[in-house]
Amino acid sequence: MSLPERVDLLVVGAGTAGAAVASLGARAGLRTLLIDRAPLDRAGAQWINAVPRWCFDDARIAQPRGAELVGDEVPYHFVAGEGHVVVRDHGVLELDMHLLVARLQQDARDAGATLEERCARSGSRAAWSAARCARTAASSSPT
Ligand SMILES: Cc1cc2nc3c(=O)[nH]c(=O)nc-3n(C[C@H](O)[C@H](O)[C@H](O)COP(=O)(O)OP(=O)(O)OC[C@H]3O[C@@H](n4cnc5c(N)ncnc54)[C@H](O)[C@@H]3O)c2cc1C
Repeated sequence: MSLPERVDLLVVGAGTAGAAVASLGARAGLRTLLIDRAPLDRAGAQWINAVPRWCFDDARIAQPRGAELVGDEVPYHFVAGEGHVVVRDHGVLELDMHLLVARLQQDARDAGATLEERCARSGSRAAWSAARCARTAASSSPT
């Protein structure tokens, strides 16, 4: 598959933020291209993050489940000197970010966005022509 000749929305960075934005843009009917300088399966965070549950509702992203959800409000233990505090019901989830990024990238694909890896935007002008990809776009003019 070749790269799109013209796009309405070029999103640089296929981590959580970029993949979610590309999904929203494609769902809104924009011809959307999401690029990352890294291979797509290495884009974005690759570790376990603590993320508040409400973030998903605010971003209109389905709540994590399955292997993506490493911990569901596990108690936090704080130890200082002789003291020990346990915090429960804090609303924070432990997430496998690699799996979350993969899901958000798939959401973007399903919405109709084109995803391209090893493709870096460089320079100061917001021009697609400034992006350097392993594959070359047939034409490179943003609209
Ligand atoms: C060790 C660590 C622990 C963390 N723990 C937590 C936590 O517990 N909870 C929490 O909420 N947050 C945590 N964070 C922060 C969280 O991971 C980031 O806020 C989040 O990953 C940001 O997502 P992003 O999509 O904006 O950017 P990133 O995940 O950084 O993704 C940016 C993507 O853009 C690509 N890119 C960059 N420049 C270009 C370019 N010029 N051209 C093409 N591609 C480009 C990169 O390759 C990358 O894939 C942690 C961060 C670190 C480093």
